[in-house]
Amino acid sequence: MSSTIDLPEGAAESRDRRQRFDRLLAVAEIARDATARRSINELLQLAVNLIQERLDFYHVAIYLLEEASGYAILRAVASPAGPNLLAQGHRLQVGGQSMIGFVAETGLPRISEDVATDQMYFKNPLLAETRSEISLPLKVIERIIGVLDVQSRVENDFDFEDVRTLQTMADQLAIALENAQLFEDDQRKLRELGVLNEVATACAQIDHEDLLIEQVTQIIGQAIYTHNFGILLMNADRKLILKHPSYRMRIHEQAESYPSDAGIVGKVLRQGRPVLLADVSQDPDYLNIDPDIKSELCVPIIIGGTAMGVINTENSEPNAFTTADEQLLTTVAGTLGSALQRIRIHATERRRHAELEAVRQAALQFTSTLELDTLLKVILNQTLQLTTADNAHLFFYDGVRLTFGAALFRETGFHEKPLFEPRQDGLSYTVARSGQRIVIQDMRSHQMYADKNWEGSIIGIPLRLGDQVLGVMNVACNQPQAFSEDELNSLGLLADQAAIALANARLFEESLHKAQALAQAYAQQQEFDRMKVNFIQSVSGELRTPISVILGYAELLDGGDLGELNTDQQDAISVIARRARLLTKLLDNLTIILETESGEMRWERIDLGELVEELLGEIRRDFTQAHLKLTKRLEIGLPRVPGVRSHLRRSFENLLNNALKFTPDEGSVHVELTRADNYITFLVKDSGIGIAASDLDHIFERFYQVENASTRRMGGVGLGLSLVKQVAEAHRGMVGVESEPGKGSTFWIRLPIE
Ligand code: ADP
Repeated sequence: MSSTIDLPEGAAESRDRRQRFDRLLAVAEIARDATARRSINELLQLAVNLIQERLDFYHVAIYLLEEASGYAILRAVASPAGPNLLAQGHRLQVGGQSMIGFVAETGLPRISEDVATDQMYFKNPLLAETRSEISLPLKVIERIIGVLDVQSRVENDFDFEDVRTLQTMADQLAIALENAQLFEDDQRKLRELGVLNEVATACAQIDHEDLLIEQVTQIIGQAIYTHNFGILLMNADRKLILKHPSYRMRIHEQAESYPSDAGIVGKVLRQGRPVLLADVSQDPDYLNIDPDIKSELCVPIIIGGTAMGVINTENSEPNAFTTADEQLLTTVAGTLGSALQRIRIHATERRRHAELEAVRQAALQFTSTLELDTLLKVILNQTLQLTTADNAHLFFYDGVRLTFGAALFRETGFHEKPLFEPRQDGLSYTVARSGQRIVIQDMRSHQMYADKNWEGSIIGIPLRLGDQVLGVMNVACNQPQAFSEDELNSLGLLADQAAIALANARLFEESLHKAQALAQAYAQQQEFDRMKVNFIQSVSGELRTPISVILGYAELLDGGDLGELNTDQQDAISVIARRARLLTKLLDNLTIILETESGEMRWERIDLGELVEELLGEIRRDFTQAHLKLTKRLEIGLPRVPGVRSHLRRSFENLLNNALKFTPDEGSVHVELTRADNYITFLVKDSGIGIAASDLDHIFERFYQVENASTRRMGGVGLGLSLVKQVAEAHRGMVGVESEPGKGSTFWIRLPIE
């Protein structure tokens, strides 16, 4: 190449030029041919290499215009200075003080025959040997897209033909570039659409934050930014920004997190707007972590209205990112931000739900016991299980004083005594009196514990039922700041449940005491009953013999067996005999009542038909004497019933005697024994004086007598019907009555067959 500079003769130059034209034409062909299927970068590099090699120039370069920045940016170069220039991100301002700046602005070719004297020449120290230069516009129709710049070590090295040939090449190159650009744009758009579609699908389908971020990083990383690309998110208190593990790094970088206000990322988070750096060294905010990085694009991820993270990408080439990149990542960040918001809301809901469920399960344990001591242990146990606390105390409060209930330590189990006795102005009393929770996240710095050397955190929670404070639970942890807001909420819920359980257990203990008192009273009552029965039994036992002696002699006297009596004597003795008989009946009734009460009865199967016939046989004479008509209807072949014969006999007899007593002369009494279903009914119907409705409810009570003339006349103590009822019930039967004053009464006993 240097030989061209040294050529002394004009003839030799002219011959060389001839050859140059031929070669130029060839180059033009090749360039045109190359337009079809190369990428822009390849195409540019091919063109500058061809021109430099075949035409033997010192420096051949192509600049492309970047409308956004207003610069012509060096894209391909063939010269010794080439690699350095590219690494610098060499660029010249459109319209600026340079040949390229001029051509880029005007679209006119420009030749500098001697750069030493050219005002417009931009002296580049890397291109010190340049003597002459030609810059030609790359134009499509009237649009300037770039500049072809050729420099020579020889002064005045470009003639008319050179200009023509190079301009032809420039035109062809421009068309090729335009085609390649269109093609690349299309390709890129397609790829971006694919990426956006995949990102949207992932955002809709993945329900886990880390998985989603990993997937999105992978989608974009595979398609577009293979290195130095990824997502960073702020931590909970937003002080740090953490590199997601899926971040794709070119070099191994130690740091996983940075202060969230540092560097370009910090700026993007602050501003909530993307930052696109063509040259990172130009931005004072840039933290130089990797010296190879030349350009950066960082867009914010907005979650719920706040920038909570960024999508970041860097490149070792300057100018690596365009506004199209920015648009793409902004769209991705928008989709991702909404998806992350949805996922976070879901996660919060799930966590809440899990907490509530844990409290519910814990509270469920409370129902396992009503025994107060056990319940205290269950409550403390569940409290430690639900939290990170190291110990928990429970005190009861009666409105004035706190009394120790129980204490549980994670390390040592249950304690008989509290770790500290509640002080009047201490945590527990303050909570008990106010009914309000107190949270002390650091005991060291709290005035309540100024005189103690205690560390850690403690909460006092009231156990409340409505307005009433039943107790206080203190939950403590050896670490300060131990209780999260969620934990405090859960503890509050648990305490409410514990209060209810404690109140129930107390009620239960109270009712247990009441029941015990009642049982005691009942036992006493039974003892009294037993004594009463004993007393009546012994009294009636004592009375029975003398009365039967009296009755025996009275009947002998009355019957004239002991000699004739005068009328007065006769009257007196028959009163004695009648009263003695009544007394005997009274004793019999008493005995039977006591027997049915005490349950001492001999059961047998009884033929009621036969029993009734027997009774009627005995009593018939009394009815005839009283001028009463006695009729009967006794079903035959009735089954026997289980029962105590003497008791049933006395019951029937009492009903018959009452009918006899309370039916005036010439009246009638009808007796029936019938079966319906599994019952046999004994019925006595009289046409006697009847019973007032107001008395009907009471006549089966003990010692109840209807006040009227005939009862006074007839005697009796009001035990007959109560015996009937008691016996019927002892036989699992029942009694009944229907009556109308002046018309008569119907009494019946119904007894089960089985
Ligand atoms: P007492 O043995 O004193 O008669 P009861 O228990 O047999 O006592 O009867 C209670 C009361 O029921 C009697 O005082 C009487 O007034 C009333 N009474 C019972 N049976 C009849 C009846 N068949 N007709 C009218 N009153 C009756």
